Amino acid sequence: MRHPRERLPQAESAMKDLAVVGAGPAGMAAAVAASEAGLSVVLIDSGARLGGQYYRHPPEGFRARRPGALHHGFARFTRLADALGEHGVEVRLRHRVWAAEKITGAEAPVDAEGAIAVHCLAGARDERRETVLARRLVIATGAHDRSLPFPGWDLPGVFTAGGAQALLKGDLVVAGRRVVVAGTGPFLLPVAAALADAGARVAGVFEANGGLGLAPALIAHPGRLAEGAGYAYRLARHRIPYAGGHAVVAAHGQDELTHVTVARLGANWVPGPRRTIECDALAVGYGFVPQIELATQLGCATATDRDGGPVVAVDEGMRTSVPGVYAAGEPTGVGGARLAEVEGLIAGRAAAADLGRPVSPAPGLARRRARLAAFGRALQDAYPVRDGWMGWLRDDTLICRCEEVPYARIKEARELGAVDARSLKLLARPGMGWCQGRVCGYAVSCLAGEDPLPPRRPIAQPVRLGDLAGAGDPAEDPGGEDP
Ligand SMILES: Cc1cc2nc3c(=O)[nH]c(=O)nc-3n(C[C@H](O)[C@H](O)[C@H](O)COP(=O)(O)OP(=O)(O)OC[C@H]3O[C@@H](n4cnc5c(N)ncnc54)[C@H](O)[C@@H]3O)c2cc1C
Repeated sequence: MRHPRERLPQAESAMKDLAVVGAGPAGMAAAVAASEAGLSVVLIDSGARLGGQYYRHPPEGFRARRPGALHHGFARFTRLADALGEHGVEVRLRHRVWAAEKITGAEAPVDAEGAIAVHCLAGARDERRETVLARRLVIATGAHDRSLPFPGWDLPGVFTAGGAQALLKGDLVVAGRRVVVAGTGPFLLPVAAALADAGARVAGVFEANGGLGLAPALIAHPGRLAEGAGYAYRLARHRIPYAGGHAVVAAHGQDELTHVTVARLGANWVPGPRRTIECDALAVGYGFVPQIELATQLGCATATDRDGGPVVAVDEGMRTSVPGVYAAGEPTGVGGARLAEVEGLIAGRAAAADLGRPVSPAPGLARRRARLAAFGRALQDAYPVRDGWMGWLRDDTLICRCEEVPYARIKEARELGAVDARSLKLLARPGMGWCQGRVCGYAVSCLAGEDPLPPRRPIAQPVRLGDLAGAGDPAEDPGGEDP
């Protein structure tokens, strides 16, 4: 197999000053700030539309009829999107970035030494290879839902909270008629409110933590307090019951979800009294996991976040430890859309300044980042994942759904001597399948008794072997084998 660097001559466009991967709040803001300062910028995203998760918006026809409906921060999004156009940012949607690498050494094309090659698969079904060259790179790849396994979590009708929200906001699909929302964190509130607004009967919101730990931080952030009060009002208007200290510990149904078991949780989430609730959909989420594969591929140093998970380590300009590479938004720590946007602005400005463009100091941005990041830390402290969830598992509960690894096999591997997530993976195969541990990785680390490690995947997205090997003409190579 040839190394991606050998395919650099196929780079399709002239070298840009800056490539930004991820067109959510962080990436859009980075692209706007850098292009305003005079950099040529390409903004790349795997999705079909700009906006990422927070600014995810419904299809064009619906938007024209009801502008702003099912959309967070519509005016802000429109301003950012317009600014991208005004400053000539090249936008490449439906481009999945599977690798990024620094170009060094003799193979580097003229002018490319020290630049970064961003390898993409472009298109919807018949993807073609593309390589983008840029002097600087901002990684703004967001996060994905953090899932905890429990009996029945693989039944049709069980969604992640983010998945249910994305279906609604992006595709106008309501997850079910009678929905239970469960897990931990404030994200459960907009999910429940949006589902109810869209016509679902929300049978209850079950928050595993009490959530009262957030009270002091809310007093320091009146805007967030008002946002929380808004959700509380919407829940009350729809008569949605909200219970702290409760969790869905099992989902049931023959071929699809018919009901869930909700337990009152004791200390460390040990389940106490139980009851069942009928529902045809469950939206369950235990926070988010930052997507940092591209950063670790490039060798960027990581730090440990408040919740024990790995994040990209950055300085006050969002510079990573690798010169020329910046990170913004959820990859540097989960803190919400406003923090992501501020970090994007800082990263875009820092990239411009580092390339010699005049950029005026903006101490206000640094202060806003510090304030919002402090709130993000308070959220993580108030909504931790407690170890007791492991007591909800049964021997036949699937831990890794891709490789169909039940809990019994994980226990067996531990008895055989597996002492960490890596040896569990080698012995029992969790994390070896299609998603490469994105879904089960957190749980497997917990079951191994260690904090999640930084990902060591050499590829950031599923890629066909044909594309990986670089065989044939990329434009005429729709086939290939699955990894
Ligand atoms: C499924 C989901 C739904 C969410 N919904 C909400 C919500 O409704 N309200 C809310 O307040 N918060 C929501 N969040 C939390 C949300 O992540 C943040 O609040 C906010 O969007 C973070 O902004 P960001 O720019 O860091 O990342 P994001 O908005 O997540 O943007 C990251 C972008 O990077 C792209 N990307 C990632 N990897 C690659 C790659 N390899 N190649 C190309 N593109 C890539 C993604 O397609 C995405 O568009 C959601 C999170 C998830 C995971």
